[in-house]
Amino acid sequence: MKSISRRSFSKKIAIATGSVALMNTIPLACAFESTPATKSLGIALVGLGTYSSYELAPSLLETKHCHLAGIVTGTPSKEKIWAEKYNIPKENIYNYENFDTIITNSSIDIVYVVLPNAMHADFCIRAAKAGKHVICEKPMAVSVAECQAIIDACKKANVKLSVGYRLHSEPHTQEIQRIVREKEFGAINFVTAEAGYPSNGNPGQWRLNKALSGGGALMNMGVYAIQGAIYAAGENPISVSAQEFSTNPGYYKDTDETISAQFEFPSGTVGNIVTSHNAKLDRLYAACDKGWFELDIAYTYGPLHGRTSAAKEISYPYQRQQALQMDDFALHITQGAINRVPGEMGLRDLKIVEAIYESIRLGGEKITLDV
Ligand code: NAD
Repeated sequence: MKSISRRSFSKKIAIATGSVALMNTIPLACAFESTPATKSLGIALVGLGTYSSYELAPSLLETKHCHLAGIVTGTPSKEKIWAEKYNIPKENIYNYENFDTIITNSSIDIVYVVLPNAMHADFCIRAAKAGKHVICEKPMAVSVAECQAIIDACKKANVKLSVGYRLHSEPHTQEIQRIVREKEFGAINFVTAEAGYPSNGNPGQWRLNKALSGGGALMNMGVYAIQGAIYAAGENPISVSAQEFSTNPGYYKDTDETISAQFEFPSGTVGNIVTSHNAKLDRLYAACDKGWFELDIAYTYGPLHGRTSAAKEISYPYQRQQALQMDDFALHITQGAINRVPGEMGLRDLKIVEAIYESIRLGGEKITLDV
């Protein structure tokens, strides 16, 4: 009888059940669409910057299973503006100091942390302690240890946890996941994923400040490339080697500008990722035994777009990805639908991020991954 290690056995079980982050590709939410949720869940956004203002709050006007119920802000002038615009009652407005009193507010079910990366762990753990379900923006935190602490806090408080990887609720990405799952083009030999955008010219922004961001392009956009390579390969990598490039060290003083990394996957697939704060990159491509597939708008807010070697366009009507994402998480809480992006997926990605930085530190040495 062929022996099977405990690790590979649990991976096979995960694949069979779709229960674990890495193979979390089964579009089960459609099974729940016809069943209205028993309750629309109240979400409080923590941090009212660009992403909350222009993506999450507008999306919460389109969600069916959750709504914007509260805000947590460190900027008093935003309170009145948001209260009027989104009809938020005074008692649902918090600042960073009194945030923990949210524990007594039964109209808030989910806390969504949308702060600079180094603040995620603190606010996610406080939210869990307050008995609230948690969505944490990407990257989940600035270290593996912090990701684990968030997971532990949510488990201890018996609350649900998700990471803001919106693309898992997005139809073009789900179509890629289906092609991979059903091996439509046979074995996948090579994947390449590139995600990046040029920095906006403000050297004072928190994304270029390692103490607040945890790292540069890799932390910000590299996690999308890691995600893309993994869902295009259909499995987690077993090793990584990486290189860093800097064309403008005077500007990118504290954080990485451009990183390239190569993965090996257990089935023999080879992967390459590139991420940059200096180049516009937005692509995912896979070469298979019997053809290829790609998304060449792969990570932005959409509409995404792609095609396959079967002369098929991958094209779906525009929907706000964040609305789909937050509704999926609400259905996970109210109806037991799959958690498309559990905390373990954010943790896995930070393990890969840390290995990439380690490889760069060691001059490109291959690092074995256990994710
Ligand atoms: P932003 O700079 O626009 O907003 C940050 C918010 O945090 C502001 O409201 C700011 O006042 C507040 N803040 C509190 N303490 C701060 C400090 N010390 N320094 C700077 N700001 C501080 O950032 P953003 O683009 O909204 O990003 C917030 C989080 O959302 C990040 O983790 C980012 O990676 C994530 N994000 C995710 C997506 C996605 O597509 N999933 C897109 C954009 C941002």
